[in-house]
Amino acid sequence: LTARLAELRDLPAETVDGTRIRLSANIEFPYETAAALERGADGIGLYRTEFLYLSSQQEPSEEDHYEAYSQVVREMNGRPVVIRTLDLGADKMGHRPLAEHEHNPFLGLRSIRLSLRNLDVFRPQLRAVLRAAVHGDIRLMFPLITTIGELRQARMLLNVVAEDLKDSGIAHRSDIPVGMMVEVPAAVVMLEHFVREVDFLSIGTNDLAQYTLAVDRSNEYVADLYQSSDPAVLRLIKQSVTVADKNEIPISVCGEMSSNPGRALLLLGLGVRHLSVPPSLLPRVKKAIRSVSIQQCKEIAQRVMTLEAARDVDLYLLDRLGDLV
Ligand code: PEP
Ligand code: MG
Repeated sequence: LTARLAELRDLPAETVDGTRIRLSANIEFPYETAAALERGADGIGLYRTEFLYLSSQQEPSEEDHYEAYSQVVREMNGRPVVIRTLDLGADKMGHRPLAEHEHNPFLGLRSIRLSLRNLDVFRPQLRAVLRAAVHGDIRLMFPLITTIGELRQARMLLNVVAEDLKDSGIAHRSDIPVGMMVEVPAAVVMLEHFVREVDFLSIGTNDLAQYTLAVDRSNEYVADLYQSSDPAVLRLIKQSVTVADKNEIPISVCGEMSSNPGRALLLLGLGVRHLSVPPSLLPRVKKAIRSVSIQQCKEIAQRVMTLEAARDVDLYLLDRLGDLV
């Protein structure tokens, strides 16, 4: 670690007018906590647990889940750790085929839908999360929530699992915060209803862009259309932040959009106060945050919201970034 990076690690992610931004890390493996801490992360904003599946030869057991989560939360030493339940399917496949061949996997049996249909896979993960929560500040997040019914089903299963642990006298915590990803346009549209049943929200701009723009995020033929800075996506982000603020529910952005410095400043201007980015990009984003005022970010957002195309948005952001950072 260079001296510059070490110095930046110890400085707060604060705008020039003194607004503290929470800056967390996205991780996929427990060993990444070291990189997150080295770069001064405020916590883990997104732990993509499906990599537990993708990296081993066999299906992880409850103990495998428990070991991984305990390690992460212990190493983060009191800082919050948001564990996202399995996001398998579509681009991330497991060991045994959990779904038959699908013509449109991104519109198919993936993520929370897959978990809710395979309780033998989902239940051990939920048990492990509640057990590991005795070691620190663990928060649970469900991905790809589309309907209120899915959220209720997932929460109900969590309650059942907690009861089972209690009946068996196994150490656990049943009162951890539960949140959901906002990454399907339907969830944004219905967010006023979701906020009554969650403790926090996190916007997944990768999937939100994919589903808003009808662009497969992994299809190179339409890659030019896949832009989180598209004005339609920006409107959904703004709407989500407005609903969250009105209901006093914390909201973060953990999609890749938050690790692009220009787009990160735009998010601050739209009212976002918590960003989560890959560990390697923490210094870059922190530097951008520390070089602007919230007023400047608001002006950027105001101007951006008048633009009609992603290209115009990105050109404008690049131009402003050149002046500011
Ligand atoms: C997202 O969709 O923005 C997100 C953070 O989740 P993933 O990239 O794992 O789908
Ligand atoms: Mg996603």
